[in-house]
Amino acid sequence: MVAQVAVCGTRSGYNRHRRLGEEACGPCRAANSRRVREQRAEARRPEVPPALVPHPGAAGAVPDRVAELRWQVEQLREGMVWAVVNDPGKVAAMARERRETLGELEQAEHAAGIDGAGSDELGRMLEGPWSLGPPSPPSSS
Ligand SMILES: [Zn+2]
Repeated sequence: MVAQVAVCGTRSGYNRHRRLGEEACGPCRAANSRRVREQRAEARRPEVPPALVPHPGAAGAVPDRVAELRWQVEQLREGMVWAVVNDPGKVAAMARERRETLGELEQAEHAAGIDGAGSDELGRMLEGPWSLGPPSPPSSS
């Protein structure tokens, strides 16, 4: 009885070369690296959104509204990172929402007398990879 021989150009062909202590041939190496690439791509694609940042329940020195908005901004960032990989169609809407939330955060921080990260964050965002260009001016009536 003849053992089944792994065909060259497959992953098992590659493994056979390795078992025999040989240098894998071209087709086997290609098959192996293709498989490795696929596995990496699968590993990179989480099925569910990443664990959410814990909500700041009792928000110490920071006013509740500021804490809430900071939390939302963080959630939207996580959500965008997730959407880029899993649902790119949602990224633009989420970026817009995050920008609006950052604007609110900036106002809330200003009102609370905090020299906040909101404005910095907004500035970075408008320049950064999520940039959708400058916000459109409010329509005057
Ligand atoms: Zn081979």
